[in-house]
Amino acid sequence: MPEKKVMLGDDELPRYWYNILPDLPAPLPPPLKPDGTPVKPEDLEPIFPKEIIRQEVSTERFIPIPDEVLEAYRIWRPTPLMRAYRLERALKTPAEIYFKFEGISPPGSHKPNTAVAQAYYNLREGVERLTTETGAGQWGSALAFATNLFGLKATIYMVRVSYEQKPYRRVLMQLWGAEVVPSPSTRTNFGRKVLEQDPDNPGSLGIAISEAIEDAVTHERTKYSLGSVLNHVLLHQTIIGLEAAKQLEELDRFPDYVVGCIGGGSNFAGIAYPFYYYKKAGKAPSDTQFIAVEPTAAPSTTKGVYTYDHGDTARLTPLLPMYTLGHDFVPPPIHAGGLRYHGKAPTLCLLIKHNEFKSVAYNQVEVFQAAELFARTEGFVPAPETAHAIKAVVDLALEARKAGERKVILFNFSGHGLLDLRAYDEYLSGVLKPYEYPREEVEKSIQRLFEMYPWLRNVRL
Ligand SMILES: *Cc1c(COP(=O)(O)O)cnc(C)c1O
Repeated sequence: MPEKKVMLGDDELPRYWYNILPDLPAPLPPPLKPDGTPVKPEDLEPIFPKEIIRQEVSTERFIPIPDEVLEAYRIWRPTPLMRAYRLERALKTPAEIYFKFEGISPPGSHKPNTAVAQAYYNLREGVERLTTETGAGQWGSALAFATNLFGLKATIYMVRVSYEQKPYRRVLMQLWGAEVVPSPSTRTNFGRKVLEQDPDNPGSLGIAISEAIEDAVTHERTKYSLGSVLNHVLLHQTIIGLEAAKQLEELDRFPDYVVGCIGGGSNFAGIAYPFYYYKKAGKAPSDTQFIAVEPTAAPSTTKGVYTYDHGDTARLTPLLPMYTLGHDFVPPPIHAGGLRYHGKAPTLCLLIKHNEFKSVAYNQVEVFQAAELFARTEGFVPAPETAHAIKAVVDLALEARKAGERKVILFNFSGHGLLDLRAYDEYLSGVLKPYEYPREEVEKSIQRLFEMYPWLRNVRL
C-alpha cells in the first residue's frame, strides 16, 4: 500500500505567505465608509497594528514569515497531508482523496495560523492586550492560545448563550489565561445600553464585536483582532496550501479539485490560493477547479447579492465588497457555528464573481451524514464546519466513479469535532432538520441596505 501520510520536516516549513492581491482577475474594490468614500489605511490604526494594516493592503506576492511566528508554528506545523484510503474504498471511487489535517493544532482548528501572527505583530508594536469576540469559542480559543504564547493579555467577549451553554471552549480560553466576558456585559457603553433595554439579552456576535472594538479603541496599548474575512487573515492561512503543494509534489500529484468550507472564507482561501497561483503562473495543469462549500442555512455566495455591506450587524466595520445576505441576517440555529456568517471574504467573492472559483451549498442533514461516513471510515471526527467540505468531496468522488476518472481531490480538514459532540448527539437522535434560508429574506435585507445607503444602487461592481 502506498503511503497514508506525507509529513514534512521542521526545516521544510514555508518561509513566506502567499498574497493573492496581485494575481486577482480584477482589482479588488476598496472598503468604503458609510458616506461612500474609500477607507484610508490610517483610519484603521486605532484598531489594528501598523504591520497588519500594511499586509491588509499589500500587493507584494510573497510576504516573509517572521522567525518568531515560524517558531510558534513549529508547535504543530507542518501539518500532515493524509490520504483517505478507507473513504475511497467505501465510495468505490477511482478518485484519490487527500486532506490537510489542520485539526492537529492545540486549539483544534486552522485558526491559530493567523492568531499567532497577529499576536506577534501586536507584541512587536508595544500592544499589551488584545480584544476579540467569539461565538462558540473557536476563534476565541485560538487567540487565547496565541496571546498566551507571546505573553499578551486577552479579553474575549463571548456571546452570552454560548458562554452559558457551551462551556468547553470557554474553559480552554481560561486555561490559556484569557479573560472571558459574557456579552452583553457592563464593561462597555454599548453593552450597558443593551442590558438597560433588555437585562436578559442572550447576546449575538454583532453585540460582542461592538464591545470588543469599543474596549480596544477606549484603552491604551489595546488592539482588536479578527479571525477571518480580511486580506491579512487569509494571507496567514496560505501556509496550509503552501505546505500541501510541497506534500503533493512529493507524490507527484496536483489536485483536480481543491475543496473547503466557507464561513468567512479563511481556511478555504488558505488551502486554495497557493494552488490558484501555481495554476495561473503556468506551473501546474490549468483545469484545477476550486470549490467553496457553504450551508443552505447561510448561503451567502449561492443566494446572496454581490454588493457593498458591513462585515458586522452593528455596522461598525467598513462596507466591504462581497456576496452578502444582508448584515441584519439572523443566523438559523444550525450546528456549523463557524459558517453562520452573512458575508464572505472580498477576495474570495471576487474570484467567485469572475468564475475562477465555484461555490455550492448543502443542508446540515446531508452534511452530518457525510461526517458520519468519514468518522466510520477514517476515524477522525470532523468539526461540523469541516463536514460541509467532506459532503462536497463525497459527491465529487461519486461523480468520478460514474465517469471512471482517477481525479485527485484535495480538501482542508479545517478542524476536529471533539468539542461538538452535542451536535452529533442531535444528529444521531434524528432531531436535526435540513434548512434553506429563503430568498425573500435576502431580498428584504438587501432592500433595507439600499434604503440605508441610497448611493449603493449606483455602485457597479
Ligand atoms: C471557524 C471555522 C471555520 C470557518 O471559518 P473560515 O474563516 O471560513 O475558515 C471552518 N472550520 C472550522 C473548524 C472553524 O473553526
